[in-house]
Amino acid sequence: MTARIIDGKALAHSLRTQYRERVAQLKTQGVAPGLAVILVGDNPASKVYVGNKVKACEECGVASFHHSLPAEAGEADVLALIARLNADPTVHGILVQLPLPPHIDVRRVLEAIAVDKDVDGFHLYNVGGLVVGNTIFPPCTPYGVQLLLETTGIDVAGKNAVIVGASNIVGKPMALMLLQKEATVTICHAKTRDLAQHTILADILIAAAGKPGLIVPQMVKQGAIVIDVGINRLPDNRIVGDVDFDGVKEKASWITPVPGGVGPMTVTMLIENTLKSAELRLGTGQGIGHQGWDSVTLP
Ligand code: NAP
Repeated sequence: MTARIIDGKALAHSLRTQYRERVAQLKTQGVAPGLAVILVGDNPASKVYVGNKVKACEECGVASFHHSLPAEAGEADVLALIARLNADPTVHGILVQLPLPPHIDVRRVLEAIAVDKDVDGFHLYNVGGLVVGNTIFPPCTPYGVQLLLETTGIDVAGKNAVIVGASNIVGKPMALMLLQKEATVTICHAKTRDLAQHTILADILIAAAGKPGLIVPQMVKQGAIVIDVGINRLPDNRIVGDVDFDGVKEKASWITPVPGGVGPMTVTMLIENTLKSAELRLGTGQGIGHQGWDSVTLP
């Protein structure tokens, strides 16, 4: 069997085309959706990610407000900027690019973002929403994976989903989302003993460890759906995922490539959440519990 490719780039493109229409609709109602992006320091990878996010905003007609702070900026500077953006009605989403320099407390910064602008979904309020199955802003990477899984037409309910990676931004929220869809979920991490004994049972295998070549064909069940979240730069500068793509595609039924799989969807979901925020402000949002902010109990 050779796996069918789940084309994240194509899905992202099609969603972004729809977003342009949603933006136009919002604008006819007097709302120009806007996303503020905060970058602290000059981490080259972070600069690329921020650049991609700003470009995606432009592509969809969303205003982007890029705030660059020097690496020496203090926590108080970041918190003051967030407070300003929280109060700014032209800003519907606030994203703080991670990682932050080590002298800044990341949790304190994330908790300072107004929950109705937390389009990355990292504020504890949104994390809690995920736990009880009533998310307002699902975190972008697992949200993108969820939509990619939907394109296969396969019902997740009752399937064995195994996630390799347990980070707060990918593995854990991914597990909660799949649990919400009634999958039987296993989360593996660096201390998991005999990883293969778990992965081999996966109907849906999600690799998010950041280790190139971690998932080899012997670890994959025949016919599994394999989603590769990993982004790893090899010494020869090639970008690869965590999955041995050439080997595993001969066993899987569906597989995401790297690049062109999960990556473009992550950025796209950021735009989705920003539009959702703007629509909630107007009370025209659609989807999970989206009757407008008045109907949402905020802390
Ligand atoms: P992270 O915070 O470093 O977490 C990695 C997770 O993988 C940890 O839970 C770690 O376990 C686990 N792990 C590491 N080595 C392992 C091994 N040999 N076996 C099993 N588990 C192992 O990374 P992250 O931020 O979640 O990102 C993971 C990967 O996804 C990276 O390559 C990153 O670049 C990529 N990523 C891609 C996107 C996208 O849009 N495509 C978005 C975000 C991240 P412990 O918890 O025990 O340490």
